[in-house]
This record gives sequence, structure tokens and C-alpha cells, in this order.
Amino acid sequence: MTAPVFAMVNLGCRVNRVECDRIAEQLEAAGFVIGGQSEADAVIVNTCAVTGEAEAKTRKAIRHAANLPHRPVVFATGCVANLFADSLASLAPNVRIVQDKSSVAAQVVEALGGAASYTPASSSMPTPTGRTRPGVKVQDGCDLRCSYCIVWKARGRSTSVPLDQVVEEVSAAIDRNAREVVLTGINLGCYNDDGKHLPDLLEVLLDRTPVDRLRISSIEPQDVDARLVSLMASSDGRIAPYLHMCLQSGSETVLRRMGRVYTAAEFAKRAEAAYAQIPNLAIETDLIVGFPGETDGEFAESYAFCERMGFSHIHTFRYSKRPGTRAAEMEGQVPPAVSAARSDAIRELGERLRKRCADKLVGREDLVVTQTVGGGISGGLFAVTFDTPVPTDRIVPVRIAGATEDATLRAIVL
Ligand code: SF4
Repeated sequence: MTAPVFAMVNLGCRVNRVECDRIAEQLEAAGFVIGGQSEADAVIVNTCAVTGEAEAKTRKAIRHAANLPHRPVVFATGCVANLFADSLASLAPNVRIVQDKSSVAAQVVEALGGAASYTPASSSMPTPTGRTRPGVKVQDGCDLRCSYCIVWKARGRSTSVPLDQVVEEVSAAIDRNAREVVLTGINLGCYNDDGKHLPDLLEVLLDRTPVDRLRISSIEPQDVDARLVSLMASSDGRIAPYLHMCLQSGSETVLRRMGRVYTAAEFAKRAEAAYAQIPNLAIETDLIVGFPGETDGEFAESYAFCERMGFSHIHTFRYSKRPGTRAAEMEGQVPPAVSAARSDAIRELGERLRKRCADKLVGREDLVVTQTVGGGISGGLFAVTFDTPVPTDRIVPVRIAGATEDATLRAIVL
């Protein structure tokens, strides 16, 4: 009998991707093989509810998979499955809802009749695919309540993976040849294992594992404090010189309506302190344009703030109404054409700033994780090409010799 096939559809954030990787590892360990949807016996859809648009995409993906001619069993999990289980289940008779993400693999195996051969994967099980920059989920949920967000409702209050377990998972990833480990969570600043916070976790990982490089996937601005910055600055590149600080708006008044817990002025203070202390630091951000009531003046304030911060990348999102949130009830919803124009302007600014950041790195030394013989990823998450072939899955010191128009770095291997 040929091995059963599964396909993964991931609609969400980096945390969802890490969760998908874990489910895939568990299914491969149980004898399943990964494939395309057209041949899959089971399609796992990891759903996203972050915006109304994301939820619509989720429903479309489930309908598409469930209506494939061979009618695979579709397992819907994640934020939309947690919030709107009944309405997702009613999309098609072959849709199953799995609210406990840790049980997805077991439920797939059971449904497809492979339970007898199924052994749940332990954290030390080898990854069949082998990965150089795996993510390790250390935290879930969020204790804040931003007015546009439904994720805190979908995922609940913050929970943290115990510190010792994170050490084990990171060590296991290194055994599987990881050169960089990306610590992920919904709100990493909420990490709290019995009074041990994110800087404690980083310190312990640097001390107790031989990890070449850790990367913090994203962080809320209020959590970029003096301790974190000095830890990054003194780590000799073992904590990537990279911060994804979620700004959302550079306008003080919009930030207040968003229910964010920092001001733009505080953001600037923290970012500037980090730039001053961490060599080669790249700061990326998320920005929402067209938030309810965002005036031309507020948008201009936000635009100027982004320019001042010199972000290495701006992930721009057009606000879309998310029923069930406070922002959805706010006056002054911005017309789509206005949001689209603002989004285009920020995208153009983001490209210009990225190129400027890349140019600033020319002449400097950096560490690159090699992903092909010809290149890899820099500390600040820039694509790098080498002057000479280098084996893959290494971390190599380089000097940056130049930057192309699309902000790819050209490097001399040292
Ligand atoms: S910090 Fe705000 S936007 Fe981020 S998950 Fe928590 S509530 Fe949502």
C-alpha cells in the first residue's frame, strides 16, 4: 500500500509556519509523505483571522480543497477554526475542525487509518527535510488588546514554552544542522516562564547551547529595553542584529485609536538606542494604512516617521474591517482607493529605505548563513551573494563589497 499523502496550506504568520512545520514533521515520522493538494488524501489548512481579508482567503482555501474532484479530508485548524468552528464546518461535509493544534497530526493519522503505526514525534526526532534556519515556537497568545486585532481572542492569553524545553528544542535543531534558530511567538515580549522573560531565555540559550545565531522573529516596541539591547550588542552576532519592531502607525493619534501601548516618540527613543549600540542593526516593521479615521495629515505623519526610522523593510497592510474588533465599529472607515494609494506610497518608501540600509552595510563585516553555494542570509536578513562558492548550511564571516538595486548584498568571504 502506498504511503498516504498530505498537503499543507498555511495562511498565516511565522508562528503558523512553524506550527505547520511541526505537523509535517509528525506526519512524515508517521509514514505520510508531503505532496500537492491534487494528490493529497488529507489537506491541512492552518487558518488566519488577522484581517477580514485573511479570513475570506481561509474560507476560499478550505472550499477549494474540499471540492477537489477526489474529495480529500480537509482539516481546518488555527485562528479561524477557533473563532468560527461551526461556520467553517458547514462549508463542506469533508471538513473537520481541529481546535487543539497539537493534535492535528494524530487526528489525520486516525482519520486515514494509520493509527497503528503512529508514534508521536518527540522534539529530538530528526527533521526529514533538514533545515538551516528553523523556527522554534516559544510563546503563544497575547495579553494585550489592540483595537484592530482578533488574534488575542483566537489564541487566548499568553502561554510560554518552559525554558528547559526551549533549550532542548534548540539543541535538537542544532543537531539537525541548524545554523540559525528563529524564536517565534505571537507576542514574544509576553514570554514568562516562572519569572524568566525573553532576555533570560536568550541568555540561557547562548550559554547552554552551541547555537551559531539566534533571531528574534518579531517584537513589540515596548519590549525593546536596555537589557535586550545590551545583550544583542554584546553577543558577537550570536543574536542576529535584527529587530522586527511592530510600529503599525507613526501617528500618535492613530496609535491611540489602535490601543497600542507606546507612543511614536517612545518607539523612536528605543529604536535609536538600539541603532546606537548594535552594529549593523536592521529594523523592520509592520505598518497598517487606512486605519479608521486616518486623515491625510495622520498618514503624512506616519510616512515621515517611517522615513526617519530608516526601516530595512516595511510590511504594509491595508486595514480591512475585522468583525468582532473595536476598530470595526469605529467611525471614518477609509475608502479602499485611499488605502490603496497610501499602501503604494509606503511600499515605494520601503524599497528606497531598504536600498539605503543595504548601501550603509558596504565595507562592513557580517555573518552569513549559507543556503546555496552561491549565497545566503545576512544578520539583518538581506539576501547575500558570494564572490566564491561556499558549502551550504554554514555560517561564514564576510565583508560586504556592494549592494544591487534590489538591495541584494555582494560579499567577499573572509
Ligand atoms: S500585540 Fe496587539 S496586534 Fe499583536 S497579537 Fe497582541 S493584541 Fe494582537
